Amino acid sequence: MIAHDALYIDGSWRPALGTGVIDVVNPADEQVIASVPAGSAEDVDAAVAAARAALPGWAAVPPARRGTYVAALRDQLVARRDEFVATMTAELGVPVGFARRVQTGIPIAVAGSYAELAATYAFEERIGNSAVHHEPVGVVGAITPWNYPLHQIVNKVAPALVAGCTIVLKPAEDTPLTAQLFAECVAAAELPAGVFNLVTGLGPVAGQALAEHPGVDLVSFTGSTDVGRRIGAIAGGAVKRVALELGGKSANVVLPGADLAKAVAANVADVCRNTGQSCNALTRLLVHTDQYEEAVSLAAAAVASFVPGDPTDPDVRVGPLVNAKQQARVRAYIDKGVEEGARLVTGGSAAPEGREKGYFVRPTVFADVTPEMTIAQEEIFGPVLSLIRYEDEDEAVRIANGTVYGLAAAVWAADGATAAAFARRLEAGQVEINGGGFNILAPFGGHKQSGIGRELGAHGLAEYLHTKSLQF
Ligand code: NAP
Ligand code: MG
Repeated sequence: MIAHDALYIDGSWRPALGTGVIDVVNPADEQVIASVPAGSAEDVDAAVAAARAALPGWAAVPPARRGTYVAALRDQLVARRDEFVATMTAELGVPVGFARRVQTGIPIAVAGSYAELAATYAFEERIGNSAVHHEPVGVVGAITPWNYPLHQIVNKVAPALVAGCTIVLKPAEDTPLTAQLFAECVAAAELPAGVFNLVTGLGPVAGQALAEHPGVDLVSFTGSTDVGRRIGAIAGGAVKRVALELGGKSANVVLPGADLAKAVAANVADVCRNTGQSCNALTRLLVHTDQYEEAVSLAAAAVASFVPGDPTDPDVRVGPLVNAKQQARVRAYIDKGVEEGARLVTGGSAAPEGREKGYFVRPTVFADVTPEMTIAQEEIFGPVLSLIRYEDEDEAVRIANGTVYGLAAAVWAADGATAAAFARRLEAGQVEINGGGFNILAPFGGHKQSGIGRELGAHGLAEYLHTKSLQF
């Protein structure tokens, strides 16, 4: 058990002004592994002051040079990758294999992509008699969740740095150790003091203080739609920029003629990825009524190979959920599914065999799910797949679009063109076509209540810039 007592502000680790602490728990064995300061509103004040003071200097650094700092930061992430993997496995319970491949692999690649973009992005353009400058928005307040703790930090910090913004980060209370490790990387990359600041703390205290702070020009939030709504209201009241990456209830539509076995196997793997704790998880599988029972059997068989276990074991693909609250929430949704009349094909709300300790849940498949059921409408954030039947394409579109969310979707068809034609009718920010892979340069974000704004690539960089037109 390690007691960390400092926040990273203005280029150094300094004691928190408040006295509160947050215990960090290993969700696989429920042991307290560390504690970190619960930063107060005064700590947030100090961090925002440091970021404001650093802003003019950082904004004046040429973009290509800012890119070399981001490249140095990427190199630090690479050098400390094993520590990140071990830290995330301990505080999030993510299986080591996934922690290495995805939870650290993607942020390293994203940081690299922004280092490159810094040198090539058009920070100035000519429109008729105008020179249009794309300038940093200013001080960014970044509030991040626990499910992809490094990815969500890098998705905000790397483009903000390239844009010339300075940053105060408030990471999730469940995964502060990953954020501390990231701050150590920032220090080792020798970024100027005050450009990046870290305040660990509780959402309603440190998070709220950051969102409300008049010294913050842009709030970038990833997390639940409930909190996002509040942050959007605060930002609207202050007329400041806001970016919201929120929840989802994404549909995977298998059209007749698609490779059903492949589509179902990919969907089960997707829903078990990160133990179901992914905002873009494809949690609704829509299958034509003629193939429906075959899909149910395929899903049941596929889930059998996802057995929850010790996340430090390289062969384990499903770990525990992040905390007791999420475990209770996922179990309650499973009970609700049964209550509302869905058919429990496999899984259920009881603890997996031999996993009574730790926040484990059973990967679960529901059939006979109808579109209005709670489990078909609300984000569960656990390894729970709902199979829904449709009679024709129009009905499939209606069901797929029939939630408040619009983050992601997937379409499987006999060929890419058929799937892409169907994808045009979907209300979602990202659509996987016949299993198409994640692209770290493509804009990521939501339609409808899944959010406002985009992350990744050039679109993600544009979020941190505003324009100034000079007329000649
Ligand atoms: P959350 O409360 O929205 O947490 C996201 C971040 O916001 C955390 O840093 C959190 O701090 C902070 N926060 C909480 N209340 C705040 C406030 N009033 N003002 C400013 N910041 C605040 O999400 P959660 O409670 O961890 O998870 C609940 C549900 O959200 C999940 O079951 C899932 O459905 C959804 N979720 C979605 C995503 C996504 O990627 N879209 C990620 C995580 C969760 P604390 O850590 O201290 O709460
Ligand atoms: Mg919370």
